[in-house]
Amino acid sequence: MDFAFTNEQELLRNAVRELSEQYIAPRVNEMEETDQVPLDLLKHMAAQGFLGVTVPPDLGGTGLGHVARMIMLEEVARVSPALSMSLQCLHFGVAAIAESGNQKLIDQYIKPLLQGEIFAAAGITEASGGSDPSAGTTTALEKDNGFILNGRKVFITNSHISDTAMIVAKTADEPKKEFTAFWVDKKYGGFRPGRAEKKIGFHGCVTGELILEDCFVPAENILGARGQGLAYALKGISDYGRTGIVGVALGIMQACLEKAIKFAGERVLYGKPISNLPSIHFKIAEMHADLAASRLLAYQACWLLDNKQRADLAIATAKFYCTEAALRVSRKAMDIMGGYGCMVEYGVERYLRDAQLLVPADGTNDIMRVVVGKTLTAPPKKK
Ligand SMILES: Cc1cc2nc3c(=O)[nH]c(=O)nc-3n(C[C@H](O)[C@H](O)[C@H](O)COP(=O)(O)OP(=O)(O)OC[C@H]3O[C@@H](n4cnc5c(N)ncnc54)[C@H](O)[C@@H]3O)c2cc1C
Repeated sequence: MDFAFTNEQELLRNAVRELSEQYIAPRVNEMEETDQVPLDLLKHMAAQGFLGVTVPPDLGGTGLGHVARMIMLEEVARVSPALSMSLQCLHFGVAAIAESGNQKLIDQYIKPLLQGEIFAAAGITEASGGSDPSAGTTTALEKDNGFILNGRKVFITNSHISDTAMIVAKTADEPKKEFTAFWVDKKYGGFRPGRAEKKIGFHGCVTGELILEDCFVPAENILGARGQGLAYALKGISDYGRTGIVGVALGIMQACLEKAIKFAGERVLYGKPISNLPSIHFKIAEMHADLAASRLLAYQACWLLDNKQRADLAIATAKFYCTEAALRVSRKAMDIMGGYGCMVEYGVERYLRDAQLLVPADGTNDIMRVVVGKTLTAPPKKK
């Protein structure tokens, strides 16, 4: 067993931390106040190779893998969970092409996606219920060597900045219910963002509707095989969405722990810094334990992905544990800071608001418990 990061991974962490502090930190207040996506920052990260971290070098990525991606998301989220959320969803869009696109789609899209010339969203959820994607009503009817898509996706990250998207739609109704994943592009028409949601957190990361109105998609834009859309989307949600959420949670915890320790060292009560109080020690110890346990779950899940082993159980476990830990840790940071913790200027309340959004995103934590519970109680498979 080896718990050490490689030199390459340590260098990556330092580089992403430096970039986050130099370029992202000065923009956080503006993101909070305007709720506008800092496109220039996303493009800057793309230019640094951030979007291709799991894409093999022969396709133009860096191929550093999922552990490296977790490091990257954690470091960006330490400064801006919102930007890390945008970034992790963009990885999902890139993976749709890199892992399930045919050669023509790869030739056409991978370079502009990796360079941040265009962005891609992942559109699965509908108003009929994110926990039950098979209730989705978006249709794809075959016509003229392609498909005509109609429907409305909700709660889609990067909805209003994406030129393209992976969209899951129904290609056959009852009794043979069938879902297929399509690569949709604005250039074909009939694909546009709808309303942008106002959220409690993740300001500067847009979440909204994607509307498909007689949207033409060429037959060659099917991702993976016809009829495999839900299976494919669920794998992408697990490998990229849930792990991405976990990366954001780690960054939130790291930031809150650092801020709480700094505040406790500076805040003087009864003539001494409050870092001398046992009750502060207890909270800091619990925050540390939550972060340390979360990191083990998170990086183990990514290690499984990098080593091509089954990871869905580890990812679902990490998703609910780490996001709930992020809520506990951000709440404790606020408590340590007394009244100051509730003041926007002190920069911790934002982490708690962002942490709450991690609970439903990419499958609610109830659904994670269902996945874990069902897997562990399933009868053993016969050999
Ligand atoms: C910030 C954010 C970003 C998102 N980004 C995207 C995106 O990019 N693309 C995308 O497609 N979607 C995205 N989503 C949607 C997200 O995946 C859904 O919100 C999520 O799957 C839950 O669906 P729902 O909101 O419809 O809740 P529902 O499915 O209606 O769930 C309601 C309640 O019922 C519970 N529940 C449901 N089924 C069960 C069960 N079997 N057992 C126990 N409890 C159950 C849930 O846990 C929840 O408490 C995003 C959501 C958020 C908040």
